[in-house]
Amino acid sequence: ETITVQELAQRMAMRAVDLVKELMKQGQMVTANATLDADTAELIAVELGHSVKRVAEADIEEGLFGPPDDPADMKPRPPVVTVMGHVDHGKTSLLDALRQTDVVAREAGGITQHIGAYQVELEGGRKITFLDTPGHAAFTQMRARGAQVTDIVVLVVAADDSIMPQTVEAISHARAAGVPIIVAINKIDRPDADPQRVRTDLLQHEIQVESLGGDVQDVEVSALKKQNLDGLLEAILLQAELLELKANPDRAAEGSVVEARLDKGRGPVATFLIQRGALKRGDVVVVGSEWGKIRALIDERGQQLSQALPAQPVEVLGLDGVPEPGDRFAVVESEARAREIAEYRQRKKREKASAKTAGAASLEQMMAQLRDAEIKELPLVIKGDVQGSVEAIVGSLDKLSTDEVRVRILHTGVGGVSESDVILAGASGAPVIGFNVRANKDARERAQREGVEIRYYSIIYELIDDIKGALTGMLEPEL
Ligand code: GDP
Repeated sequence: ETITVQELAQRMAMRAVDLVKELMKQGQMVTANATLDADTAELIAVELGHSVKRVAEADIEEGLFGPPDDPADMKPRPPVVTVMGHVDHGKTSLLDALRQTDVVAREAGGITQHIGAYQVELEGGRKITFLDTPGHAAFTQMRARGAQVTDIVVLVVAADDSIMPQTVEAISHARAAGVPIIVAINKIDRPDADPQRVRTDLLQHEIQVESLGGDVQDVEVSALKKQNLDGLLEAILLQAELLELKANPDRAAEGSVVEARLDKGRGPVATFLIQRGALKRGDVVVVGSEWGKIRALIDERGQQLSQALPAQPVEVLGLDGVPEPGDRFAVVESEARAREIAEYRQRKKREKASAKTAGAASLEQMMAQLRDAEIKELPLVIKGDVQGSVEAIVGSLDKLSTDEVRVRILHTGVGGVSESDVILAGASGAPVIGFNVRANKDARERAQREGVEIRYYSIIYELIDDIKGALTGMLEPEL
């Protein structure tokens, strides 16, 4: 726990130069950028007549995000759905088509605003929320920031194209997050559509649809012709029922940021997804390292709301800065408290950035972390030049697993290491293994930023040896 002289001065509402002078008087030769430990800082502050309250992240999180709700207060809530799949398989078309299934929209002029998510109301009043940014990058990026918002993944597979590389990636991302999948076999209107091939191809990726004896629902649709959208909605509602999704709607709100930007006229604008409680106009929130007093709540129909409930997406105005997708928000009791927490987090963020901490996902650090974990698993993302070598690597790694330790392969693929690979690895604290392939620029930059380790190999046994070493390191020393 440290603080710079500059920041301490700021907190005591004095100029940094004056604090430096003060410290010099006491015989401490420091600059404004010097860091002080918490005890020293406290001493100085008290000497200068300030009262001191230390805030630790643990206190903050504990105070911000309340304990689990009493089961008696939990009410059913709508499911939150993300649409994923290979490019051009029809994700955007499907989201557009589903948007039009909303019954309320017909009266109110429709879902007209793109706020990053929308909720449809079906006949009978049941609701489903869709995240409007298709693709696994957004999904996993949110997860990496601690936001688990998606309950169900709709995997779109074009019936004329079947399983493609990004289909496989999407499966890996959904699986890593532990989110159930519903397969939407799209473009069923095309003459060359072969839905049965999609079902059998999925078997190779351990997805067994119901008609083939498994428990994954599959629905044939045409986003273009709006065929069988009802069937897909039914499947989603059925899956939601199985999940027994509930939240307490009657408490201070918590949730996650879906999207955020700076609007020229309106200032910072963010779309929040409520995860429990009710968010009301006038509430004071902390979100990531920003805070604000909610000035307006606007839904995807452009209408002003007085409150938003669990699983509801809502655009909020009144924040002092732009948070990041995946940041969590919580309502706090006062503006002073909100400001205090936001400032604390901004300081932490700066410290972290300047400390340039080595990656959280290097193989060595993974080992250290895993040494204390109950289940000893080493997560990995593996990319290789040809399918044959990837299979050989996976086969050899499987053999290394014992009762005590095992390799958990999050994703494998043929081709260079992509940004999406790095995002997936980062979200699960895994390194990426590149066999005879390199990472592209975006992947390298992201890995650097997020501290994800990419290891390159060109000889299989060297790769296996390293992983074996890591697994051995994970074992408890025998006493
Ligand atoms: P995305 O990249 O997954 O978001 O795919 P898009 O929604 O942009 O669709 C890619 C192309 O496939 C577009 O030309 C769509 O018109 C077309 N498409 C999408 N759904 C269907 C469908 O159900 N049937 C047919 N025939 N074409 C479709």
